[in-house]
Amino acid sequence: MFSLPSIKIGKILGFNIEINYTWFIIFIIILFQFTLIFDAELASLPISVLAGLITSLLFFSSLLFHELCHSYVAKLNKLPIKKITLFIFGGVAEMTEEPSTPAIEFKMAAAGPLASIFLSGFFYGFFILANILNLGNVLISPLYYLALINFMLAIFNLMLGFPLDGGRLLRALLWYFLKDIKFATKVASMVGQILAYLLMFVGFMSAIQGRIGGIWFILIGWFLNQAAQGSYQQVVLQSALSGIKVSEIMAPNVLTVSPSITLDEIVSNYFLKYRFGRFPVVEGDKFLGVVTLHDVKEIPRERWATTTIGEIVHSSDKLLTINVNNDAVHALMQMAREEIGHLLVVNEKNDLVGLVTRTDIIRLIKVKTELGM
Ligand SMILES: [Zn+2]
Repeated sequence: MFSLPSIKIGKILGFNIEINYTWFIIFIIILFQFTLIFDAELASLPISVLAGLITSLLFFSSLLFHELCHSYVAKLNKLPIKKITLFIFGGVAEMTEEPSTPAIEFKMAAAGPLASIFLSGFFYGFFILANILNLGNVLISPLYYLALINFMLAIFNLMLGFPLDGGRLLRALLWYFLKDIKFATKVASMVGQILAYLLMFVGFMSAIQGRIGGIWFILIGWFLNQAAQGSYQQVVLQSALSGIKVSEIMAPNVLTVSPSITLDEIVSNYFLKYRFGRFPVVEGDKFLGVVTLHDVKEIPRERWATTTIGEIVHSSDKLLTINVNNDAVHALMQMAREEIGHLLVVNEKNDLVGLVTRTDIIRLIKVKTELGM
């Protein structure tokens, strides 16, 4: 659902921050709306545009602050957050693993709305101060809207549909009392979908009555429905894979290269012959690491005949390997996190024992769901 391209804008607290292209549309609409509001109050157009721009940027920073608070609590609880993407209706902190306890989920979900309420109070405080000191509408008006919009952000996110923050709070509570995360997610996702249809219905009704704001409700409802469906599918996927180990789905025979061959040999006998972009390097049974086409290209061509694989091999990259006794679900999540289609399977002694691919796992899920297992 977030497949539209995003651009990376930086790194805060170790989290990569990206902006989705849909966000620019929303930024322009918001900038336009703020400028219109301020123009009615401030009389001078250039000052209104400037106030609109600063307010829009502060609004954007507020969204980012909300997501950073979620991510920070996640990090404190050792949950990996890959990146934070800002898009049309706010942000998503992309979790590649689900929280391990309802308490962690609850704390993580609560952090965002609390951050927004804090910001709302913060801007409201300055709004009061600006009023007392009579600093003029150019300050008072933006502060008022920033307080209001952060408050609305908290309320919107507290709606009970999963995967909104409110839905996550609901799931955490159900999970805590019923001790069943699958069922809790199912209920929270269903509530999310009902809420989505309600929003779309309300939006549709007000739109046909000529209220243009109704379109927002339709869009938000549509977004929420997509997200709720996605998280429900995640549950289905996890239950199809539950109890299955990596060892049961891996392919045991992997094409490996020896560290003693040269770059010339790996290019002509491996990269050109097979279509793979990387090969595991193995000495005896011992897994040394991987060599990619990119690694070979780093070395000047005239040195290909004399450089061996052993000299350029990346010492076994933990992110590309998975233990044979791990769960298949873990393998799938790790591939999603690292954006790769396969993982090398190793045993306790770090011997290479197989290869597991995303295609294999997806095929297994398909068969199992088709058979109703
Ligand atoms: Zn949130």
